[in-house]
Amino acid sequence: MASSSLHIFFLPFLSPGHMLPMVDMAKLFAERGVKATLVTTPGNAARIRDSLDRANATGGHRIQLLQVDFPSSVAGFPDGCDNLTAVPSPGVTEDFFRALAKLRQPFEKLVREHAPDCVISDGFYPWTVDVAAEFGIPRLVFHGSGAFALAALRASFRACRLHQLVSDDAEAFVLHGLPDRIEMTRSQLPDLVVSPPDYLKDMGASNLKSYGVVVNSFQELEPGYGDEVSGKKTWSIGPLSLCNRDAADRAVRGERASGECTERCLRWLDTQAAASVLYVCFGSLCRFTRDQLREIALGLEFSGHPFLWVFRDIDGAEEALPEGFEERNRGRGLVLRGWAPQLLILGHQAVGGFMTHCGWNSTLEAITSGVPMVAWPLFAEQFFNEKFVVQVLRVGVAVGATVCSTEEEERALVGKEMVEAAVARVMGGGEEAKAMRKRVRELAAMAKKAVEIGGSSHSSMGDLIQELVGLKKP
Ligand code: UDP
Repeated sequence: MASSSLHIFFLPFLSPGHMLPMVDMAKLFAERGVKATLVTTPGNAARIRDSLDRANATGGHRIQLLQVDFPSSVAGFPDGCDNLTAVPSPGVTEDFFRALAKLRQPFEKLVREHAPDCVISDGFYPWTVDVAAEFGIPRLVFHGSGAFALAALRASFRACRLHQLVSDDAEAFVLHGLPDRIEMTRSQLPDLVVSPPDYLKDMGASNLKSYGVVVNSFQELEPGYGDEVSGKKTWSIGPLSLCNRDAADRAVRGERASGECTERCLRWLDTQAAASVLYVCFGSLCRFTRDQLREIALGLEFSGHPFLWVFRDIDGAEEALPEGFEERNRGRGLVLRGWAPQLLILGHQAVGGFMTHCGWNSTLEAITSGVPMVAWPLFAEQFFNEKFVVQVLRVGVAVGATVCSTEEEERALVGKEMVEAAVARVMGGGEEAKAMRKRVRELAAMAKKAVEIGGSSHSSMGDLIQELVGLKKP
């Protein structure tokens, strides 16, 4: 097979939301006979090694892991930390960007030594486009978000440039040039759009110089949001997480959910009725004020529905829980501390709804599991994803968040009544809930078809491999 002569370097960004899909992507390319090399830092290598070893042992893949050192102190990270989960604010700072740039030299050295045929790089490494050019190989970019969000981001930049933004932060304006009519307020736009820092400007230029874009999505989910809107040749090859076919793969996926945590969680879900539980998780980076955590707790309690809440117990968050909260809700609610086996949870038949921050991976994982959402966007492109889920796909309801910010204090408080009301709409037995459930299950079936032989994503990956083989230097 021609693909067996192809060697691709993958350079994931240092956060779970970018790393996990790229690990899955490397596994999928390897499944198709490609030699895949993941390049990352030591702490991150330790996180993903188990998952790669499993793929190599059970699937006979050819995935290798190469390491480059990360200057934690330059990034403002605690010593020895090399992942965005380790910093107090999930924002990508100037210091962090400066540290990422220091990976260039060691990366370049590895490219020289191993001579890959292509680089698939996260968008946060704009310099990989120059490294690839230096060695005469194509660079594809991966942003971690879906095609809709990328198109909405471009439309927002355009609106900013043309001064189409309204002066009032809370007044809605239309994002022109998209297949669907989407309205945003300025307060829902990421900082990246409203006041783009200099160090992020290189990203736009490097995207334009890239060979193309690889997206974790499937054509049937975002029709009309491919090449024509992104402005670059785009391959939708997802949902990538579907490559984790057995329970062990879904449990050990990059980050390691402790065996005990997984057991406890699944045992508890087994005791709950089908589609009765609301799963609550806000991704790997979220932080909330204590006031907000309290409102979430009370909203969940008042909703009366069973819930499984993944709680990030950082900086005294524990004290935010209302007194006696866990005792009062024992049996009906489970508070899980630590890293949850999200794919296993979403795939459990007891789960009937997902309160999510609309990170793209979580959104896609809900869709592929056929689970409707309570959409609670917090920062980055999450408000675009909320619009997509609620207005375009109509498989979720908005909790009513209004301010996009990585700083928890800057976000407007979402009261317990809002939480309760949104949960009731998704978990209740009303017509709206039934229609959402039906639609999301249809999408789940389409997602599975897309990655099967002959499906759109499977074919798209095949086309990309052929194209890259054709580009190989003799
Ligand atoms: N995740 C998980 N367990 C957790 C929290 C997150 O497995 O306790 C996974 C989740 O399944 C998803 C990723 O981490 O694949 C988070 O990515 P997403 O884009 O949803 O959000 P981010 O963390 O980047 O904000």
